[in-house]
Amino acid sequence: MNTSDLPGHPFIAYQDGQLCVEGVRLADLAREHSTPLFVYSQASMLAALAAYQKGFAGRKAQICYAMKANSSLSILQLFAQAGCGFDIVSGGELERVLAAGGSPSKIIFSGVGKTRTEMRHALEVGIQCFNVESEEELDVLSAVAASMGKVAPVSIRVNPNVDPKTHPYISTGLKGNKFGVAHERTVPVYQHAASLPGLKVVGIDCHIGSQITTIAPYLDAMDRVLDLVAAIEAQGIPIEHIDFGGGLGIHYEDTQPPKADDLWQQLLSKLDTRGYGQRHLMIEPGRSLVGNAGVCITEVLYLKPSEQKNFCIVDAAMNDLPRPAMYQAFHGIVPVQAQATGTEGAALTYEVVGPVCESGDWLGHDRDLNVKSGDLLAVLSAGAYCMSMASNYNTRGRSAEVMVDGSQAKLIRERETAADQMLREKLI
Ligand SMILES: *Cc1c(COP(=O)(O)O)cnc(C)c1O
Repeated sequence: MNTSDLPGHPFIAYQDGQLCVEGVRLADLAREHSTPLFVYSQASMLAALAAYQKGFAGRKAQICYAMKANSSLSILQLFAQAGCGFDIVSGGELERVLAAGGSPSKIIFSGVGKTRTEMRHALEVGIQCFNVESEEELDVLSAVAASMGKVAPVSIRVNPNVDPKTHPYISTGLKGNKFGVAHERTVPVYQHAASLPGLKVVGIDCHIGSQITTIAPYLDAMDRVLDLVAAIEAQGIPIEHIDFGGGLGIHYEDTQPPKADDLWQQLLSKLDTRGYGQRHLMIEPGRSLVGNAGVCITEVLYLKPSEQKNFCIVDAAMNDLPRPAMYQAFHGIVPVQAQATGTEGAALTYEVVGPVCESGDWLGHDRDLNVKSGDLLAVLSAGAYCMSMASNYNTRGRSAEVMVDGSQAKLIRERETAADQMLREKLI
């Protein structure tokens, strides 16, 4: 490993042979807080947001951070202070936004399975909009709102039936998915929504998938959504805002996803051509705001050579970093202490695995590493869909988290203890 910057991770680099997030050495953080430990770069998150803001300069646009990517309170607070709204998918996420100081008037509520209790709470605090995903949900939401003497602002999530060319588990805009309302059903569903007493139609939305690394599926989806806007408005139902969801990919291995401002330059040019450039636009990015801003530091516990494979057993596991087990996803894994040049030959090829009792508990296959027990490794691109998906499997406490701002490091989440995990349990 040389001392150049890590591709795709602009605020994470080796300085004097030590891997640093901004101005802070990861080895120092590991010593202070132990491992596994998530470390985030505040500047990286704000730079990712700024790329979208730059793309939307001069437009009426609202960025709603899809907080399921990483819902830690400090991260929500950072984005709220930077002017973001939030895309939530549960009542729990609503509580988190409010606890972090986010404004209810900039919250949109997505998801196929909102409960009546969740709807009621969202109506009480006055969120901006419900992204409704089925006809039955429209009826229930209308009834809940009417029973409270309120009118619920709604957008309907349409399924444009385009292939985002990503992993099947994270593609959401194809016909066979559980998400959204089928393209051909859209106009009658809008007519039904407009007829219900507890609803006010305010927008349309789509979200075609995640970790999308080409622009073409977005352009296709936009064409199809704009066709629908025209058809709905032809029925006398005005569409105030158009929400294109999230999904932009980040750097994991060798992908070169488009930059947010480049993506939006092309999308805005299509919107302008079709006469929708001055509409209120919304987006729901998650991964692309936080993914490359975070790393997970882990310590090598044991090296276990075997006839077929060499195992590098580390103290982080599938409960901390679930993406490899869930989606066969790739995370870069690099040493925290850069190797001296000339020692690369000593590297062996390892399966990097955690301590959890599952064969699916792996973090990386066939990684060339020159390591011994006690060494620290950094798992890259760990800012999105890691901590927010972390579990307590094997009664492992969830990691601590640190936010770095320049040369300052702040503990934003303490490591979970066994007592924390048992708090709500009772003996018979
Ligand atoms: C998950 C999700 C997003 C965010 O997706 P990313 O790929 O993280 O940008 C946006 N909108 C909806 C409805 C989602 O479910």
